[in-house]
Amino acid sequence: MTEIVVLGAGYAGLRTVRELSGTSNVHITLVDRNSYHYEATALHTVAIGTNEAEHITFDIQKAIPKDVTFKQDNVTRIDTQNKTVTLEKEATPLQYDYLVVALGFESEDFGIKGAATYGLPLQDIESAQAIRKHLEERLAAYNDSHDERDLHIIVCGAGFTSIELLGELVYRMPSLVEQYHLPADKIQITCLEAMPKILPMFDQKLVDFAVQFLADHGAIIHTSTPIDEVTDHSVISGDNVYEANTIIWTTGVRGSHVISDSHFDQKRNRVAVTSQLTMKDHPEVFIIGDSSAVPDPASGRFYPTTGQISIAQATHTAKNIKASIDGTPLSDFTYKSLGTVCSLGPTTGIAEIGDSGRIKLKGRKVALVKKMVNDRSIMEESGFANMMRNLS
Ligand SMILES: Cc1cc2nc3c(=O)[nH]c(=O)nc-3n(C[C@H](O)[C@H](O)[C@H](O)COP(=O)(O)OP(=O)(O)OC[C@H]3O[C@@H](n4cnc5c(N)ncnc54)[C@H](O)[C@@H]3O)c2cc1C
Repeated sequence: MTEIVVLGAGYAGLRTVRELSGTSNVHITLVDRNSYHYEATALHTVAIGTNEAEHITFDIQKAIPKDVTFKQDNVTRIDTQNKTVTLEKEATPLQYDYLVVALGFESEDFGIKGAATYGLPLQDIESAQAIRKHLEERLAAYNDSHDERDLHIIVCGAGFTSIELLGELVYRMPSLVEQYHLPADKIQITCLEAMPKILPMFDQKLVDFAVQFLADHGAIIHTSTPIDEVTDHSVISGDNVYEANTIIWTTGVRGSHVISDSHFDQKRNRVAVTSQLTMKDHPEVFIIGDSSAVPDPASGRFYPTTGQISIAQATHTAKNIKASIDGTPLSDFTYKSLGTVCSLGPTTGIAEIGDSGRIKLKGRKVALVKKMVNDRSIMEESGFANMMRNLS
């Protein structure tokens, strides 16, 4: 029996076990620290409170094929020499013939002073719920504290996640103002970005639409504003001090800490893999999703880390593992993007879809596209019942 161990039940891990299920003479073990899968692409909605965690999570055990063994445990270390994986609770390390590392992303603080202590990261369900709790507590506190910093929210970074989060925030803010009887004119939503431009993957006209939409709804983006330090009540950039009691840290992501803890050759906890998605010198170890850096043969650069690409890598990995078991050559991973959709709250957004982003969309129809993509993902990974529950 060939032992295949898959680490992480995110987009990449779940798709891998689904594609490998039914292969004869293999035993598949899937490990995740949670009993549930979460739709990472919707974490910002839980963070702002436009969505509940139960709408973007589902039970892993119920979603996976019957021939897959699921272990809920924390992966602490991978030993590629002895082909073992150490778990936190299980005394005996897991032994593998093939390993798929799909441990996903963590928030990146770039070593900026105070960011890890005072910034609220967005990296999983708990951190999303912590942001919501903090935000609502600070707003609720204002009527007693009269501290205007309780009404100020700073979002650090203006990448994809930050912009989607800002979209949810400006959508929900009017109802929060009403709920907590707040002075609307004193609410301040500020986004700080080091780079001179935001969302470089989009056409400038779409970016302008997004920036204007956010500004019209009270969120101001400051570009060319690199963050030097975060304190308990402020974010400092050069001589400027931006004051707020809610500081959300979404400047970017890195791969899993397990990658560096296992002493892999890595950059920001991402391993540069071969075009067959294997670790150099370890053809039995596949690293996919946000913990990997995968070369794009067309551009010579690495593919971006997205859910879409993670799923495509998983399908390819399963194919390559089956080829390796059969003794046939492994194939190179290539990927063609289906498009990019950036929501600005639940009712609007911007998108480039089709060949090379040929179709450019903005406004309400984008929200519909985003919802369709999300519902399709839930249906594919967890089945029809979960999608219906999510729609209700
Ligand atoms: C707010 C937001 C919006 C996004 N929107 C989009 C979008 O619209 N389209 C798109 O394509 N991408 C989007 N992305 C990016 C996308 O979510 C990631 O690229 C994707 O989640 C990566 O998939 P993955 O399978 O590598 O990892 P993940 O989805 O991060 O899954 C990793 C899994 O590993 C588990 N795990 C981690 N560490 C351990 C450990 N030590 N032990 C055991 N288990 C562990 C976790 O519990 C998790 O289940 C978005 C990301 C965010 C944050």
